[in-house]
Amino acid sequence: MTDGIHGKKGRFDLCAFCPDLCLDRCPVVASTGSVTYSPFAKMLHGWLIENGRIPASEEVAELFYQCTGCLSCHEACAHDVDVETSLFDLRAELVDKGIAPYGQDIFEVPTQDLIQAQSAVIPKRYFVPEARAVLFPGCHALLDRPGLVKDVLAVFRHLNIEFIGASDEAAMCCGYPLHAGGYRDAFLERAEEVSSALRRYRMVVTLSPCCEHTMKNLFAAAGVSRPPVVTSALDIVAPLVMRTEREPLGLRLSYHDSCFLGRHMGQYDLPREVITHVNGLSPIEMRMNRGDAACCGAGGGWDRTSPVLSGIAASSVIQMADDAGADVVVSASSTCASHLDSRGDGPAKVMDLFSLIAAWLKPKRSKPKRRRRR
Ligand code: SF4
Ligand code: SF4
Repeated sequence: MTDGIHGKKGRFDLCAFCPDLCLDRCPVVASTGSVTYSPFAKMLHGWLIENGRIPASEEVAELFYQCTGCLSCHEACAHDVDVETSLFDLRAELVDKGIAPYGQDIFEVPTQDLIQAQSAVIPKRYFVPEARAVLFPGCHALLDRPGLVKDVLAVFRHLNIEFIGASDEAAMCCGYPLHAGGYRDAFLERAEEVSSALRRYRMVVTLSPCCEHTMKNLFAAAGVSRPPVVTSALDIVAPLVMRTEREPLGLRLSYHDSCFLGRHMGQYDLPREVITHVNGLSPIEMRMNRGDAACCGAGGGWDRTSPVLSGIAASSVIQMADDAGADVVVSASSTCASHLDSRGDGPAKVMDLFSLIAAWLKPKRSKPKRRRRR
């Protein structure tokens, strides 16, 4: 195998000769209604470039950005083809050739904005220099869902979790959008920056499965050592929630499997167990769930490159929850919840799992007694 625009030879071969067997899995096909964007079509164009049948151009490159990296086609593929890695690597090769259709700027989030957003939502008492564990809220929670960050802190408080602090060093983007956008040098730089800032902590606690996947898997793949322990806030609170007794919420809710938490990291049961304990009812399963769950459209930088189409993917998830008879769709990913909520067009309401737990733990106010009239 060789590297470069015609490199890693053979990675497109199986798809190029496949009768589009994963066609129905792709959120881009579902959102556009067009087979032009099927996994097969994208991989076939990669094959055509790799084998010198067509030149790489900005126009063809656009096709390779029509992928959320959701791994849904992987679930359907009998040959274990890694479509996501092949397409994302191809993006990086096109960036190197100077024919990528999107500039680096759309995949970047200014650190200063995140530091400011964090200091507006996390009280000063959490900024403890000697803390051994630090919260890594991630871009979507800090910029779009400050209420979620408050709810996470409230859950920690209610469950007496006192060892997790906050720091300006943890208010930065993990670099996933740069990776997905094909800007690998910038991603490497960001990965090293995040890693060296957080290495002194024993534990980094993430809110977004996207950040967790990036630090655990993409940093390692890029040769960057990750912070010693990266774990999700959900993993920390789940055992404590399961040991806590409160009146169940009793809502009609569905659970949306995040691609990063589910297909990328294999966690399907824990969020369902937590929801069932808190709500008193197991979530109403949507038509597409667990390994077959529909992507909300936020991954792979698709929310940045194709906001309208990725919004259609979000709407269809919400519609699916409504079709299942749910009033609320719960997400354990701040990235998915933020993207689903950005549709804001119902019918089911979007709720972060931590906000659900916070609502359950909140002490009920006793109703004021009415005075008897004399
Ligand atoms: S990923 Fe698998 S099922 Fe999909 S087009 Fe490629 S070979 Fe066929
Ligand atoms: S990884 Fe997801 S978005 Fe990308 S081609 Fe496969 S199904 Fe489509």
